[in-house]
Amino acid sequence: MLTASAQPKSGIRFGASLLLRVGFCGYCGGALHQVHRTFPNKVYRYYSCQNKRSERNNPQQKCDKLGSLPQDALDEAVSAKLLEVIGHYELTEKRVIEGDDHSATLKKLGMQIADLTTQHYVNNGVHDFHKRMSELEAEHARVSALPREKPKVRRIATGKTFRQHWEAIDDEQRHAYLKSAGVHARVVREEDFTISAASEQGTQAADDLVLDIPMNVVAEVPGKFVVNIGLGTLREQLQHVAAV
Ligand SMILES: [Zn+2]
Repeated sequence: MLTASAQPKSGIRFGASLLLRVGFCGYCGGALHQVHRTFPNKVYRYYSCQNKRSERNNPQQKCDKLGSLPQDALDEAVSAKLLEVIGHYELTEKRVIEGDDHSATLKKLGMQIADLTTQHYVNNGVHDFHKRMSELEAEHARVSALPREKPKVRRIATGKTFRQHWEAIDDEQRHAYLKSAGVHARVVREEDFTISAASEQGTQAADDLVLDIPMNVVAEVPGKFVVNIGLGTLREQLQHVAAV
């Protein structure tokens, strides 16, 4: 009875996949696709290379090297590696500060012109009214002609570490976050990793380092797969937590 009621027949929620359009086959560059195999009491979730079956495509494009990648293990390995490498840095966010359109200055000048007019015509008169008025009018014309300032982009500390942010959002949001940051994960079988690691080394050394965070980090599903993760713009979003 208990088992039956705990297992709804419909409405199974598969959860989000961290690596869709973020993860790619390290052999052919194909995107990782999701495969679900549903059994009465369990759903197995896998990734596989998009070119694994290529009935529709050129047979030469067929790529069967990765086979099936257990999704949970791979997602978990990537998530754990990100936390290990950048979890302790503070996240910043871009803030756009609107440029001055001078409306406040113009309003102030307008008030001064109105005050001067009142003083001169309603109250006792102002000694050099015309001189002062023409100065104010000239200033108003000058400011009116100024171009609007361009908006400025600043990075503002969020007060949250990458880990705090990551742990506060769900899998779907994590996936969207990685995708928008241009994170790019290439998966190969463990036995093939040495080659791709060596070819990566050359470019990595030449890269400009931000906060000593490398461009690429390597996550492993031990005995099975290795994932080379390009961190994309995640690096630019981070800073050292300010000492208190
Ligand atoms: Zn492939």
